[in-house]
Amino acid sequence: MASIFSKIIEGSIPSVKIDETENEIAFLDIMPCAEGHTLIVPKKEVERFEDMDPQDTASLMVFLHRIAKAVSSAFGGVDYNVILNNGVQAGQEVMHVHYHITVSYTHLRAHETPEHLVWRVLV
Ligand code: 5GP
Repeated sequence: MASIFSKIIEGSIPSVKIDETENEIAFLDIMPCAEGHTLIVPKKEVERFEDMDPQDTASLMVFLHRIAKAVSSAFGGVDYNVILNNGVQAGQEVMHVHYHITVSYTHLRAHETPEHLVWRVLV
């Protein structure tokens, strides 16, 4: 059965899309840890990171880099975490490879102004 992310990619489930390429998509997490929590997902559905085609990981990293820069600058250069939960024991719930970019909550609290808290459309 197709993963929930494949359904988002094919458009049968809605999402707040940030950006996409031929091979990847970025959209907001439905249950964000903090504003701007973004998921970076390869369009080819693979469960585990090490099972991806190495070429696809290279493309994914270029896309991740671009989105990380955009997320950070949207919040005024905020600090952030990049996380990949790989496998159930590592906390993976959606069995389709994805990175999380989570904006530092501490940083957001420390810079709590309307500009920093308004989520802007990226790139
Ligand atoms: P994991 O624990 O697998 O690393 O993270 C899965 C993430 O996917 C969670 O943060 C969860 O909130 C998010 N998620 C699950 N279902 C949906 C959905 O239908 N739409 C969006 N945008 N995010 C989802």
